[in-house]
Parts: sequence; C-alpha cells; structure tokens
Amino acid sequence: MDAVQIAEPVTRALFDEVMLQTYAPPDVIPVRGAGSRIWDQAGRDYLDFAGGIAVCGLGHCHPALVAALEAQAHKLWHVSNVMTTEPALRLARELVAATFADRVFFCNSGGEANEIAFKLARLHGHGIAPGKDEIVSCYNSFHGRTLFTVSVGGQEKYTHGYEPLPAGITHVAFNDPAALERAVTNRTCAVVLEPVQGEGGIMPATQEYIEAARRICDAHDALLIYDEVQCGFGRTGKLYAYQHYGVAPDVMTSAKALGGGFPIAAMLCTQRAAKRMTVGAHGSTYGGNPLACAVSLAALEIINTPEVLHGVVERSTKLRAGIDAIGARHGLFAPARGMGLLIGAPMAPAWQGRAREVMAAALKHGLWCLIAGPNVVRFAPSLIIPDADLDEGLARLDATCRELAG
Ligand SMILES: *Cc1c(COP(=O)(O)O)cnc(C)c1O
Repeated sequence: MDAVQIAEPVTRALFDEVMLQTYAPPDVIPVRGAGSRIWDQAGRDYLDFAGGIAVCGLGHCHPALVAALEAQAHKLWHVSNVMTTEPALRLARELVAATFADRVFFCNSGGEANEIAFKLARLHGHGIAPGKDEIVSCYNSFHGRTLFTVSVGGQEKYTHGYEPLPAGITHVAFNDPAALERAVTNRTCAVVLEPVQGEGGIMPATQEYIEAARRICDAHDALLIYDEVQCGFGRTGKLYAYQHYGVAPDVMTSAKALGGGFPIAAMLCTQRAAKRMTVGAHGSTYGGNPLACAVSLAALEIINTPEVLHGVVERSTKLRAGIDAIGARHGLFAPARGMGLLIGAPMAPAWQGRAREVMAAALKHGLWCLIAGPNVVRFAPSLIIPDADLDEGLARLDATCRELAG
C-alpha cells in the first residue's frame, strides 16, 4: 500500500476522481480566508458575498472565534452526551436568555435540528390524540436533506427518486393564510415555516401570515415551528428573524451562522413542547461538542449586540441600493428583496432561469455570490463586512453584469 499522500498537490480534477458527484464545484479551490475575502491556490482574492451559505456571520477566521476555538482545543474536545460540558451549558443558558425558548437540544446540522423538531412534533401530537400526526409545511420551503426533512421541505427536486417517503405531510402555498387555515385540522401536530424562505428564493413571510399561523396553531393545539437555520443568528438585523414579527413559536431551529463556520445546530423550544422529550427519546453523539459550543458562544457574544445588529440594517440598506442600481443599469435584475443581509436579486423577465450564469461570471470577476433557485441571485455576506469590501464587491458585481449584458 502507498503511503498516505498528504503532501501531494491537489487540483479540481481530483474532485471528479474521488468525491461523490453530488456537487459540481468551480475550478477555484480556496485555501485561506480572512474577514470578507478568500484566496485561492493561485493567491487570487474573492470578495465573499456568500458567507459560506449564510454561515460565516463574522466573516472568515474572526480573531475572537479563533481564540475561543484555540482555547477550547487545549481543554476538552469531546465526551459525548453521556456527560454534559461547560461550553454547552453556557451556550444553552445564553440562547434561552436571548429567545422565547426554555430548552435547547444541540446537534450538528440544520437538517438534524429540523429532524428532531419534526420528531418532537409527532410526540406532541401522539400525546394529545391518536392520529394527530400531520405536519403542515410550505411549498418552496427547505428544511434539510435527511429523508424526513426533504419530505417536509416543499421542493420535489429534493425527494425525487428517494421514495417511499415518510407519510403525514401536507404542503400549502407560502404566505397564504387562507390556504393554511384550510389545511390545518385537529389532526395537525405542527405547522413549520421559514420566517424568510431561503433556498426557495429569499421570500420574507408577511406579518399577516405569521400572525395567522400562530392563531391557527393555537386553535388546533398544533406546534408552530420556525426554521431559522438560514435567517437566524443576526442575519436579518435581529438575533432571530421572528423577533421582527413579535410572534414567538413553540419550536425553532438554528444552525448555519450559529457556529460561524464550525458545525453546530440547535433545536430550541418551550417547556410545553419539550415535556414529552424524555430520557432516550432522541440523541446525538457529537451534539453539544465543546469546541463547537465554545465558538458559538463567542459568536453570540459579538452578534447579539446593538452595534452589530444595527450594523446589519445599515449594510443591508447599502447593499440593496447597490444591487438595485446595478440591476437598473444593466437590466439583469428586478428589484431586490429579503431581510437584513439575506438578500435576493430576482432575475428580470428577459433573464429568467439564468441566475447560475451570474454566479459563475461573478466568480471570474472575483466575487463569490450564490443562487436561490434558478431565478434568484442570493447575497449573504458577513454581518460585519467593512464598507470598503461592500463597495469593492458591488463594483465586481457591476463589472459582471456589464459583461453579461454585453
Ligand atoms: C441550510 C438549511 C437547512 C439545512 O441545514 P444543513 O446544515 O445543511 O443540514 C435547513 N433549513 C434551512 C432553512 C436552511 O437554509
């Protein structure tokens, strides 16, 4: 057997040789990041308007997060949930203090956090009446890639080929209170929604919809679950997006920015929702990992401050105005939408279905942005991106759109 080839150079070609082909990454391989920039193997820099898919809330290698990780790395890495740890307890205490929640369960990804939220919903329903097991979800929603979460998610492309799917799931149009009213019955155990739909195209829920969801859930003793995996943890200018609406859920999931780039997720809930989750009802070997919790706590201390949250609102105004000006100048985008630093630029009618082209061209111009479906270019930069980087990224987006509009 050959020696392990750790020092051998790697290129994009290796991806096609040894990786499962579930992704099609560009040729660029980033090797370093700092603040709102990343650098590739050739030393070329990219402005990061993607934030690692809304994960790197404080940019890359934020000194406070590096320090928290380093400090914990010399103390304790893992004991599993056979024992609890100080970082997990500290983080849970802060999350409970900062939200509607009474209790927290830690896990490792957004999909996993939703998986336990949906399992909890079923326990809740079964505890009330036999057959109270229906989960009502929205079309165009995204809740993760486990079989249960793709099934609750409202996008057929993610379930196709994986049948048979879990039963007891109904989908309704997002932001349509009347459709929700019709779909929810006494057999419903939970309604789940993203306060801002992310993967589905950056669509904020209306105030009316959120209020209706709360009222309808209460009327049928169903749990209201917010999936804040993408829109939570400062992204919208409040710690959690639901705080804009003033309507608390019974259950909420958080991931992505929660760890600032270190994998961690959480399911938060009220005591009433938590009561049937007893010893042995659910588990996770890595959940509440001390390294992850230490980094998340450091991120929370910075993000949950008026300076940073207010800064998100200021940066949002600037970025949106910049995107709209570029959209108007070159005709690629309709007016942008979203909340805080989760912004979607829908493709103009003449450019339908071509968001992916914009993303690819932007990378050539040194700008990393994302798409949210075929028709929306998505921006989710660091919550503390410096003004100069915002300007530079917008200039690169302008150059991208000028080239495409030709
Ligand atoms: C990304 C995302 C998920 C899935 O999170 P993973 O960490 O990829 O499992 C779930 N819900 C929403 C709203 C997301 O944006």
